[in-house]
Amino acid sequence: MSTTTPARLTVLAGPTAVGKGTVSADVRERYPQVWLSVSATTRPPRPGEVDGVHYRFVSHEEFDRLVEAGEMLEWAVVHGRNRYGTPRGPVEEKLRAGVPVLLEIDLQGARQVREAVRTMDGLDACFVFLAPPSFAELERRLVGRGTEDAEERARRLRTAHVELAAEREFDVTIVNDEVHRATDELMSVVSAHCTPGQEH
Ligand code: 5GP
Repeated sequence: MSTTTPARLTVLAGPTAVGKGTVSADVRERYPQVWLSVSATTRPPRPGEVDGVHYRFVSHEEFDRLVEAGEMLEWAVVHGRNRYGTPRGPVEEKLRAGVPVLLEIDLQGARQVREAVRTMDGLDACFVFLAPPSFAELERRLVGRGTEDAEERARRLRTAHVELAAEREFDVTIVNDEVHRATDELMSVVSAHCTPGQEH
C-alpha cells in the first residue's frame, strides 16, 4: 500500500474566450510539474492542435463508449455542439501518486467534478474561476481570436453572460488581465492553499 499523500485537483473554469486555454498553455510551458488533463472531444481538431496533447479527438461512437463504461469524470455538451469530457483514470492515478492535476473545463463540467470528488476517497479539489477584466474585453478577445463565425460568436457571448454569474460558486477568482500574472497566481493556488491571492 502506498503512503504517498495525494495531490489536490485544481479545476479552472470560466466564461468562453476568457483565456482558459492560453493560461493552461502557459502552465504547460512554464510549470511542467503540473499535469494537465487531456480532454476527449467530438470536435474536429483546429490547425496546430495535436491529438493526445491538446485533446483526444474521438468519434461520437467512441465518446458514447467512454461515457457508458463510466470512464468520464465529467462531460458536457459545450456551446450546444460538441461533447467534451475528462477521462477519469489518469486524473485519479496522478493525484494518488502525488502529482498536482489541472482541469481546464467549462462550468457544467466543474459542477459535476464537485459532486464526483465527494465520492473519491481522500481526494480534494480547489475550484478556480478565471474572470475577464470586463465584458467588453471578453467580446474583444472572442472577435480577436477569429476561430468562430459571427453566429457562433453571438451564441458564445449569450452563454458568457450567464456564465459570469457562476463566479460565486467558486473558491477562488483570478482576473485574467495579463497571462503570466494570472498563471502565476493560479500556480500559487495549485501549490499552496485554496485561497485567493493577495492582489488581483
Ligand atoms: P474549445 O472548443 O474552444 O477548445 O473549447 C470549448 C470549451 O470546452 C471551453 O470552454 C473549454 O473549457 C471546454 N472544455 C474543454 N475540455 C473540456 C472537458 O473535458 N469538459 C468540459 N466540461 N468542458 C471542456
